[in-house]
Amino acid sequence: MKTLAQYLDLAAVAHGHICAGQVLGVRLAMMGLRELGIEDPIADRKRIVTYVEIDRCVTDAVALVANCRLGKRALKFRDWGKVAATFCDMQTGRAVRIAAKESAKQSAKEMFPELPKEEGQQKAYAQLPDEVLFSKEWVKVEIPPEDHPGFKGPRVVCAQCGEGINCKREGIQNGRALCRACAGERYYKPL
Ligand SMILES: [Zn+2]
Ligand SMILES: [Zn+2]
Repeated sequence: MKTLAQYLDLAAVAHGHICAGQVLGVRLAMMGLRELGIEDPIADRKRIVTYVEIDRCVTDAVALVANCRLGKRALKFRDWGKVAATFCDMQTGRAVRIAAKESAKQSAKEMFPELPKEEGQQKAYAQLPDEVLFSKEWVKVEIPPEDHPGFKGPRVVCAQCGEGINCKREGIQNGRALCRACAGERYYKPL
C-alpha cells in the first residue's frame, strides 16, 4: 500500500481536485484493505471487489485506493446515499464494510474550529484515528457468479429490440429473452 500522502496526490489527479471527500475516501479504503490484510492492491487486483454506496467525491478515492474499476467489474454501485463501502476478498471470501461515522464531521470541527469547514475537514480527516472516523463490520457478501469480474457467459439477443445482452442480465417473459429496458425498466424514453 502507498502512504496517505501518495494516495492523496494520485486522488487529486484522478478526481480533478483535492477535497475532504478524497481524504475521507482514501482513509476509508486504506482501512478496508488493511483489515483484509491486502498489502498491495495493484498486485492483488484480482482479489478485490468493492461495493460503494454513494456516487459522490468519496467514491473516486475509494475506487482508486482499492484499485477497483467499473470497467473491470470490480466496482459495484448500490445507490444508497451512504458514505460506506464493502471490500470483498475473493481469495478468502472475507468482506468488511467500512462506514463513515455520522459524528466524523463534528469531530473534524472540534479539531480545527478556527479553520473554514472544507479546509478543517481535509486536515482532520487526514489525522483523526480510524475509530473516530469509521465504523467497521465484518459481513458476508454473496456475489453471484455472473457478478464476478471474470464471468464468462453466453451473450443473448433481446427478442424485442435486438440488442445484445451480456452477463445474464436478460429476463424471460412468456418464454422470450428480453433486455431490462424492454422488460419495463427503461430509464429513457425514445423520442
Ligand atoms: Zn471532490
Ligand atoms: Zn430489448
